[in-house]
Amino acid sequence: MKKFATWSLAIAFIVFLIDWGIMGLKLLDNNYNITIEAYIGFACWIIIFASIFCRIFTNKCPYCGKLRITNGVYCSYCGKKID
Ligand SMILES: [Zn+2]
Repeated sequence: MKKFATWSLAIAFIVFLIDWGIMGLKLLDNNYNITIEAYIGFACWIIIFASIFCRIFTNKCPYCGKLRITNGVYCSYCGKKID
């Protein structure tokens, strides 16, 4: 699940950049028909936010199951080391 979130984040970000590149080129070409690009960009943002959300809320301690806010090596609740 974590890997999936990372990958979808990376892919959504790349697609978003390409999409913005296309949108920029179209605008430079005085082509304002960018509805599709705008929708793709918006969809990418949703995926990016969902992935970040997923990453934060799946970051649980394997020992006590508490949500870890920091990315430290030790759990701030039970003090166990997390690999
Ligand atoms: Zn813990």
